[in-house]
Amino acid sequence: MNFGLEGKHALVCGASKGLGLACARALAAEGVDVVLVARGADALEQAASQIRNETSRTVIAVPADITTPDGRASALSSAAHLPGGTAGRFDIVVTNAGGPAAGNFREWDLDTWGRALNANMLTAIELIRATVDGMIERRWGRIVNITSSTVKAPSSILGLSNGARCGLTGFVAGVAREVAPHGVTINNILPGSFDTDRLQSNFRAVSNMTNSTPEEAREARRLSTAPQRFGSPDEFGAVCAFLCSVQAGYINAQNLLLDGGTFPGSF
Ligand code: NAP
Repeated sequence: MNFGLEGKHALVCGASKGLGLACARALAAEGVDVVLVARGADALEQAASQIRNETSRTVIAVPADITTPDGRASALSSAAHLPGGTAGRFDIVVTNAGGPAAGNFREWDLDTWGRALNANMLTAIELIRATVDGMIERRWGRIVNITSSTVKAPSSILGLSNGARCGLTGFVAGVAREVAPHGVTINNILPGSFDTDRLQSNFRAVSNMTNSTPEEAREARRLSTAPQRFGSPDEFGAVCAFLCSVQAGYINAQNLLLDGGTFPGSF
């Protein structure tokens, strides 16, 4: 299937590894020119050159903290360096930043909450605010927010994630309907357990809290998934690219749970 994305411009955040990188690779494989953002410059440049080698698309690496106004300004202005690009103009935006730390809510003060809300709710809203009106004018756009299965199935040790991402989910539910008449869609993908560094860091947190080793925590989590395995980032990236495709134009305002069927609900 041809996704109809040749020559589109995408901003992919949190893209030096894990799920963000997988989204960027899948989009570039569909002919999209991409701007990648992450804080660590070396890993980011390595990711960018990997995608250039795989696809020969234009890939721009912007080392920046996407949770800061300056970081977002650098990311948005870099669209000018894409072929035929204009600063601030993207057809596709994938919002993503590192998830907040796991822990006990009794230890989280307002500053801790402020950082989580900024990273996992307000940053995505700011990126939507900066790009969606251009998409509306051009009558085509795709925004995909990487959230978490904790939106649907909260985890007590991931309270910061549960709270911040539910806030984003509520916001998106409203604005996605407003932009729908203009050929723009906004959807959230909710990862369950994908084999990335983030998942590994959760196992370390669980092992500290439960007197087990990270390996034991990993195995217990694997066995708790319906398919008895973790998802691969490539599986995630492919779904993201599909949601951005022309064929997915009628999928809007959805929360797509990618957990291999682990959530025990009928729908
Ligand atoms: P990951 O492997 O740790 O990758 C995170 C990426 O985001 C890295 O490229 C990181 O690079 C970048 N990043 C982090 N903070 C950033 C910031 N402030 N500004 C710009 N880039 C930033 O994580 P992942 O597994 O891909 O997870 C992606 C998102 O999905 C996270 O929010 C995570 O909580 C959520 N999630 C993941 C799973 C899972 O199973 N993997 C499940 C539920 C939810 P730098 O550190 O160099 O900036």
